[in-house]
Amino acid sequence: MIRQAKGKTPRRPAKKPSNNQKDPVGVYCRVRPLGAEDEECCIEVISNTTIQLHAPDGLKANRNGEFKETQYSFKKVFGIKTTQGELFEDVAKPLVEDLIHCKNGLLFTYGVTGSGKTYTMTGSPGQGGLLPRSLDMIFNSISPYQAKRYVFKPDDKNGMEVQNQVDALLDRQKRDSQTTVPKTPTTRRIDPEFADMISQEEACKADGVDEDSSYSVFVSYIEIYNNYIYDLLEETHIDPIKPKPPQSKILREDQNHNMYVAGCTEVEVKSTEEAFEVFWRGQKKRRIANTQLNCESSRSHSVFIIKLAQAPLDADGDNVLQDKNQVNVSQLCLVDLAGSERTSRTRAEGSRLREAGNINQSLMTLRTCIEVLRENQMCGTNKMVPYRDSKVTHLFKNYFDGEGKVRMVVCVNPKADDYEETLLVMRFAEMTQEVEVARPVDRPICGFAAGRRQRNQAFKEELTRRLEERGGPLDGESPTVLNQLLQSFPPLPPCEISGPNDDVTLPRLIEALEKRHKIRQMMIEEYNKTANMLKSVLQEQDSNLLSKENFIQEQRGKLGEKDKTLQNQKNEIDRLEKKSKMLEYKIDILQKTTNIYEEDKRSLQHELESREQRLQREMSEKRRMEARMQGIVTDSKLKWEKECERRVNAKQLEMQNKLWVKDEKLKQLKAIVTEGKTENRQPQRPSREKDKVPAKRSASPSPVPSTYNGSQSSLSSLEPIYNFSQTVRPDPHFLRPGSVSVASCISEWEQGVPQSRRQGSQSPPDCRKRAQGLPDSLSRRRGRCWARDVPVQPAEVDLEETGHWTGPPVRPLHRRSHSAGGERWVDHKPTTNVDLDTVLQPNIPNSIKVNAPNEKALSKCDKYVLTHQELASDGEIQTKLIKGEVFKTRGGGQAVQFTDIETLKQENPLAPSRKRRSSETGPDCESNEGDWTDVQTRCSVAMEMRAGSNLGPGYQHHGYQKRRKP
Ligand code: ADP
Ligand code: MG
Repeated sequence: MIRQAKGKTPRRPAKKPSNNQKDPVGVYCRVRPLGAEDEECCIEVISNTTIQLHAPDGLKANRNGEFKETQYSFKKVFGIKTTQGELFEDVAKPLVEDLIHCKNGLLFTYGVTGSGKTYTMTGSPGQGGLLPRSLDMIFNSISPYQAKRYVFKPDDKNGMEVQNQVDALLDRQKRDSQTTVPKTPTTRRIDPEFADMISQEEACKADGVDEDSSYSVFVSYIEIYNNYIYDLLEETHIDPIKPKPPQSKILREDQNHNMYVAGCTEVEVKSTEEAFEVFWRGQKKRRIANTQLNCESSRSHSVFIIKLAQAPLDADGDNVLQDKNQVNVSQLCLVDLAGSERTSRTRAEGSRLREAGNINQSLMTLRTCIEVLRENQMCGTNKMVPYRDSKVTHLFKNYFDGEGKVRMVVCVNPKADDYEETLLVMRFAEMTQEVEVARPVDRPICGFAAGRRQRNQAFKEELTRRLEERGGPLDGESPTVLNQLLQSFPPLPPCEISGPNDDVTLPRLIEALEKRHKIRQMMIEEYNKTANMLKSVLQEQDSNLLSKENFIQEQRGKLGEKDKTLQNQKNEIDRLEKKSKMLEYKIDILQKTTNIYEEDKRSLQHELESREQRLQREMSEKRRMEARMQGIVTDSKLKWEKECERRVNAKQLEMQNKLWVKDEKLKQLKAIVTEGKTENRQPQRPSREKDKVPAKRSASPSPVPSTYNGSQSSLSSLEPIYNFSQTVRPDPHFLRPGSVSVASCISEWEQGVPQSRRQGSQSPPDCRKRAQGLPDSLSRRRGRCWARDVPVQPAEVDLEETGHWTGPPVRPLHRRSHSAGGERWVDHKPTTNVDLDTVLQPNIPNSIKVNAPNEKALSKCDKYVLTHQELASDGEIQTKLIKGEVFKTRGGGQAVQFTDIETLKQENPLAPSRKRRSSETGPDCESNEGDWTDVQTRCSVAMEMRAGSNLGPGYQHHGYQKRRKP
């Protein structure tokens, strides 16, 4: 389709079609019947889309199975029984419909010579092919809307101009005077060669023809032979004596990038018959040319181009719109290609061979173009398609490059001889199917109201009818009164007067003139009558128009009213919209306020929660405090209870002793009185008491300067031997886990004993940990101490079991003489002790400072003090000064008898806060500490280091005494 423009023709979107949709080339296959002389068939139609090729028997035998049975699929396969009509219906009809709807189409037949290409394209008498059927369909569809001849006029540049009626008439008259071309036949005047090509029943029509357009069909017919283009419709004078060879044409590209044959004849045809005639003219010329050029028709390509020009009618629906821009030209090319067989097959020689080569060359180029196109489309490459290499491909370049519908009918002859060539044809056809061509886009119709032609026609008919009613129409065709009068108009007689006395001529002339005058009068009358009639008709029309105008006015009024209502409603809508906007704004504000309140609520809630949490924390803290206080109260209560008990016991003993002394005295007195010998009966107790008394004396003035506000134990006032003999049974608390300080003391003792004496000893645990009284390590240690406590001397067992003193198993304790150089102290400070750096420090002059007690130091001193630190129940570090006296044991070892405990309290500088410590110490710890508050009770024991025991450094707690074996 070509859109024409005045001056500057708009460029056709050839390179970049606006339509992205593409359709593959439609490839159809037609199998012709086997010829009478042929026997073997190599093609089988399997389905209506597939055929199968069988290699002929001879070939199979020769090539040793090289040829296999192969199947080829097409858009549709037409078998031997397919009629020309059926083929047209499927293949060409859509193309004709496209042509009428301003879309281009290309249809070609491809195959070897004799396969039925020409039969398919042209057909034979009674068997019209695609070409005559296409023409027939075109004229069946557009003939009522055809423009007058020469209204459309091709320019020399493949474009189309539009002329007014007068110019067209002048052109028509010129042609009529110049040539003897017959006018459009009013009836079917068919060339004998084309007689009955298409039966009346088979006639078909396209749908959707635009009735408000005017159409014209132009045909051209060219032949491409030996890569030369010849115009088959060119009118040339043929010299029968010395015929000139036909002149070839060249290809040109128009402004829209369409290729066209420059100077090619385009014949405007007004009917199928006329088009047939033109076609036959071309065919005849082709035959003559072939004879002149000494060639076969099978070696040339013939191209029949049908151009359809269409332009919209003007607003009145009367004439074609005089606007070149509105002219649409679409074309359908019907191509009957040369036989595709190879040169070798024709056994041509010389110029024939060259010619055949050229023909092959153009088909080869077609194949190459299709191949490159396919590759470009499938692989996204941009290879140059060699359209220019042959005239055929060059002419149809825009179909593949631009837009249009392309269809190919592959004709095959099933005869075995053609097998190899048919194979090549099939391969080409399959490849062609994979090429896609841009789908042509729909063109918009012009802006005038539709149905104007019909309205114009209707008006004309109505006018004629009314004129007829009032005395018949003035139409030249039908005999009217005026016509009759005109015909009866008497011719003037010869008016040459023979002489002055000619009486005949003048009166005859006068009579004739009078007659004429009379007729003239009658004609004037008739004319006036008709004019009046016309006037009345027009008046009637006018009144009609008036009433119509009134009606329109009325409708306009109604419209106005409706408009007003609409306006009112619009205003109402505007008002409501404003209101709704206002409400929306209000909602917005409320929403924002709600958000703020919610935010406030959330923050208050948060604050409330945090306060509650704080309160709970404080409550729990209070509860903990309470519990601790209660613990402290219970501890001190217990302590004092025990103290009281102990004091009562001591007092009791003292009283008993006094009683006993008194008893003794009484006895002595009695003995004196009864003259008995009393000197040898010294009881053992008093001797002990004697020992006890100085011990008591030495203990009461405490050697340790009590410089702090420590709670000094009243133990110092007790007799240690008493304690030893009358000692309370091992306090279960002492054995219980949690006896931190004594356990650590034991470990210190262990460290003081040579390693070899111990079996399976463990490395000492971390000192600081011990100082802080970590329960697990300590309990382990304690457990071990008790495990070693197994071997017990029978005497000790006695003591344990009876709880009475049954006689000392060792020699009585020996106290070092105080006169031997004052009191000397063993100042035992375990390394694990924390240096408290307090201002008030115990000061012991004349002391041997040791980290662990050893025999050497003990042997030199008579007093012993252990500075022991432990964790008090309230989490503070509590320092205890455990004092004792050193005795020499019978075995040669040293024994310490604890006599006094001073408890000093000091805030632990290492503990960051009370709270933390209290949280760190578990309930176990607290109870343990509680146990140790009455350590004084338990410290009234004597411990003896046992030396040389093969059991290792064991500590015997029987009677709280440790002895060294001899
Ligand atoms: P091509 O143009 O391919 O060389 P033609 O169209 O000239 O072949 O066909 C050769 C012969 O075969 C013609 O006589 C034609 O009538 C006949 N023929 C071809 N196709 C058919 C067909 N489908 N039905 C009947 N006859 C056919
Ligand atoms: Mg042919």
